[in-house]
Amino acid sequence: MKKATLFLFITLTFSQLTCTKDAFTGFIHPEMRPFIEDFIEEGKKRGVEFDIEDIESFLVNEFSVQEGFSETACGLGWYDYENTGRRRIEVLNIDRCWGNRSRIEKENFMFHELGHAFLERDHIGSTLPNEYPKSIMCSTDQGLDCSNFTIYHDTEPMRTYYLDELFNENTPLPEYTNKNEYIRTVFKGEAQEYSTNWELFIVGDPDNLSNFQFSQDTSSSGTPTLTLSTDGSSLSPPASAVIVNRFDVTDIASCSNLKAFSNIRAEGMTDGEFQVGLSLRERTTVDSLNRFSLGLKKETANGFYENYLHELYCLSSEKTDVVSISFTLESTTAASITVDNLLINLYE
Ligand SMILES: [Zn+2]
Repeated sequence: MKKATLFLFITLTFSQLTCTKDAFTGFIHPEMRPFIEDFIEEGKKRGVEFDIEDIESFLVNEFSVQEGFSETACGLGWYDYENTGRRRIEVLNIDRCWGNRSRIEKENFMFHELGHAFLERDHIGSTLPNEYPKSIMCSTDQGLDCSNFTIYHDTEPMRTYYLDELFNENTPLPEYTNKNEYIRTVFKGEAQEYSTNWELFIVGDPDNLSNFQFSQDTSSSGTPTLTLSTDGSSLSPPASAVIVNRFDVTDIASCSNLKAFSNIRAEGMTDGEFQVGLSLRERTTVDSLNRFSLGLKKETANGFYENYLHELYCLSSEKTDVVSISFTLESTTAASITVDNLLINLYE
């Protein structure tokens, strides 16, 4: 008799477990709930209604499926989980993906997953005129340098645009992509104060087999010419070198734009590329190079790029205080880029 009871007990437990795995639970992790509620609220403002009881949302130690996503994925969102019609989100419960993220980063990230789960949207690769992602549904699988948890920051017009686009793909480009009233110059390549700020980082080539070199020619009067070059290497994937200059921008009107202009000459690239980056970070994270990696503009052709423009949209007046300008060279053959007449202006 005892045996029979035990057997029954085990059978029940097992079937309950099976049941939990296969059926919709409606479970929502308490830390995720506020973001789902905010998403529903933002949708409502835009005429789209969802019910929080139609979704389940988990923090997991590993994803419940093993294929169909990139190695670095932090979250997955389904509108038809395992062909059961269930809307479901799973987020990896590790610091990089959840614990260390700020509130706004968690929001960006959850709204992207909810874009899959509630709005049934796929990834898109479209960009704004400055080549930043056009949508919070951007993804590295679309060839974008897309880190969807930094796609918008604390600037309200930027957040509003990305949420409008999330709920309506036909949202027109935001007004801030077209600001042309010159306010002032915030960085001048020839200014002594910036010439010592350049830092060189070599990526993917710790022993510098590619022999990346950086030099500043200040011999002639006027703007120093920056040169970044490599002897080439057989490294695969190719290594790259980045020069970065960081400077403060203070006392700006909210949602101003920065425009960086420079003359760039690219030579010797056969399979590589150069990139111009313009990014911002809060002073509290100034030592982290990972936080704001958006904003790269890439070119693969050799030649002279006169007055090459790269633009940073909609700065926050309160929290944006360090801007980085960077030039990157990636090449497996001997190649160089030279940069001249660098100038960064503020527009409102
Ligand atoms: Zn996605």
